[in-house]
Amino acid sequence: MSTTVLVSGASGFIAQHVVKALLDKNYNVVGTVRSAAKGDNLVELFADKKFSYEIVADIGAEGAFDQALKNHPEVTVFLHTASPFHFQVTDIEKELLLPAINGTKNALSSIKKYGPQVTNVVVTSSYAAMFTFSREGDNTLVNSEESWNPVTWEESLANPLIGYCASKAFAEKAAWEFLEKEKPNFKLTTVNPSYVFGPQAFASSIGDLINTSSEILYSFLKLKAGDDVPEHMGKFADVRDVADAHLVAFEKPEAAGQRLLLSSESFVTQSILNILNEEFPSLRGKIPVGAPETVEEQLVSSSKIDNEKTRDLIGKPLIGLRESVVDSIEQILSVKKNLHD
Ligand code: NDP
Repeated sequence: MSTTVLVSGASGFIAQHVVKALLDKNYNVVGTVRSAAKGDNLVELFADKKFSYEIVADIGAEGAFDQALKNHPEVTVFLHTASPFHFQVTDIEKELLLPAINGTKNALSSIKKYGPQVTNVVVTSSYAAMFTFSREGDNTLVNSEESWNPVTWEESLANPLIGYCASKAFAEKAAWEFLEKEKPNFKLTTVNPSYVFGPQAFASSIGDLINTSSEILYSFLKLKAGDDVPEHMGKFADVRDVADAHLVAFEKPEAAGQRLLLSSESFVTQSILNILNEEFPSLRGKIPVGAPETVEEQLVSSSKIDNEKTRDLIGKPLIGLRESVVDSIEQILSVKKNLHD
């Protein structure tokens, strides 16, 4: 009998890759989704008898995962990826903080009550739970698997971006506190990715808008040559590595109790512009060029990451920015053929 893994938020960008990686390794997967329409769509896309779904319309509702776990006593691994990741909110507390925190607490409480057979839980946290917002441009700072975002509740209400980052920090803290207080049967690991790029698991996910992190790349294709370019400075990981990390997190005993910091390299807006202009002749003259020579000098002022522990656990080189951007953009252009007509 192969192991059964529950993946919350299975319709998400990262989760679809996680489910794919699990099915490829012969795991049975129960995905939770908000609606039957989303579940049926996944059943069609994965086209694999090992995949089924349960509906969890709102992870923030008390007992959200009770029924899914009651229906699946065979689940021994629970990957909690669901959390709001978007910035179109009017009430930061209600739309970002509480669903993230309560969603995580609800998942862990349901597992303790109705899934005593669950041995491993993996929570998809974020680099946002580790970094210090105001110090991303401080090159004396080195963030690692031990770092924590020091944001307070009050600060988190300043704007949706800070609110999202805080939601990840508070939710992850709640998970470790649950472990400490409740002493459940399962082991906990978190996966903390920086910005995640890479192709969608299925090209059919590409509409006029896509998931928040991939939209950063997509938005460059929506610019015209003379447009101002949005400023980004951040760290990046490819979605295929992030998905693999979710498997490493429960498969490798030494990953138990760890926070896996997924980051391959730093980037600025100009890094992406250069890759687009160098790798896609069809885009030249249609999107901005920026100042191609300035990448290195811009990156010098970026905070650093030490994630050797995570890289050792992953056990293979992480995909680089160029490959990830090329694969993402090729997929978008294969669907959106007339973007620049
Ligand atoms: P997506 O928005 O694609 O996926 C989020 C998933 O969570 C969706 O399936 C969404 O369902 C579900 N969800 C959100 N809120 C609720 C809710 N209240 N009740 C039920 N389901 C809910 O984002 P990603 O795949 O990018 O993100 C997945 C996880 O990874 C999140 O925890 C995110 O914080 C984390 N992460 C992402 C990074 C990135 O750059 N992409 C970086 C670091 C961490 P629906 O779409 O139906 O609303």
